[in-house]
Amino acid sequence: MADAGAKAFVCGHPIAHSRSPKIHGFWLKQYGIDGSYEAVDVAPQDFGRFLAELPESGFRGGNVTIPHKETAFRLVMRLDEAAEAVGAVNTLWLENGVLHGANTDAQGFAANVDERAPGWTQAEVAVVLGAGGAARAVVHALKSRGLGDIRVVNRTLGRAVELADHFGAGVSAHSLNAAEELLGDTGLLVNTTSLGMHGNADLPIDPARLPGHAIVTDIVYVPLETPLLAVARARGLKTVDGLGMLLHQAVPGFERWFGVRPAVTAELRAMIVADLGVAK
Ligand code: NAP
Repeated sequence: MADAGAKAFVCGHPIAHSRSPKIHGFWLKQYGIDGSYEAVDVAPQDFGRFLAELPESGFRGGNVTIPHKETAFRLVMRLDEAAEAVGAVNTLWLENGVLHGANTDAQGFAANVDERAPGWTQAEVAVVLGAGGAARAVVHALKSRGLGDIRVVNRTLGRAVELADHFGAGVSAHSLNAAEELLGDTGLLVNTTSLGMHGNADLPIDPARLPGHAIVTDIVYVPLETPLLAVARARGLKTVDGLGMLLHQAVPGFERWFGVRPAVTAELRAMIVADLGVAK
């Protein structure tokens, strides 16, 4: 159990729209923990100093979000295996004055699909749309869970090639206009691009060629049912929305800072859904 008054943060720039204070605030209340979790706006030019001053700040640790995840990767002293693989850090903690960094997005992704589509690791082929930071976490999760044919599709082919080279055997790179041809034997389709998010264009991909047993998941969670998920559901495919990834990636940090492994419950999910103002 954490000391009374344990403090944690989420830092980013901007940070006002982060849901993390709501998630951790829910758990602090639920478990009756005398602690706090606050949002801190840190501009890029101040982030190095923010980290350097952490040992004297009174914080146990915290979350790091856009645009600091890659900088944190470069600056923390100890990295967990997922952070090493992904090249980004989203969770920090101090241990005997030493700053540690983890990446919990991969674990959050896998925990969400485990919960909503058990057996998903039977998929022999996965297509991952996007090659940004989130795609790296998803590809790491897929590789760690044993998927052997992971096809990364991206608008900028060079970025997909870079990602495939980074992860090596079993990961290949493809351009966006070749995507539909790849779907015929795909058991898992994951969108990690920002397309389909409220205010953005829809994905220019029709999942019609997917086999009937395919699972479709989107890590975008505003709206909860993205246009991709709506089309897949209308076809009778199993779909998984991205909110659970956000909730599950928060679990390891809370446990580090406050000493209790929190549960992702229907109540927590409902509270965040209400906060997002999106349809269930
Ligand atoms: P990122 O590094 O900026 O990557 C964005 C990706 O989207 C790139 O592959 C980019 O392709 C693609 N893209 C953007 N606009 C496009 C367009 N008009 N046409 C085709 N492709 C386009 O972002 P990220 O950090 O990976 O995040 C991606 C999404 O995942 C965001 O919506 C974020 O909110 C969400 N996310 C959700 C969770 C969760 O917990 N559920 C966690 C992390 C991220 P190019 O390389 O060609 O630019």
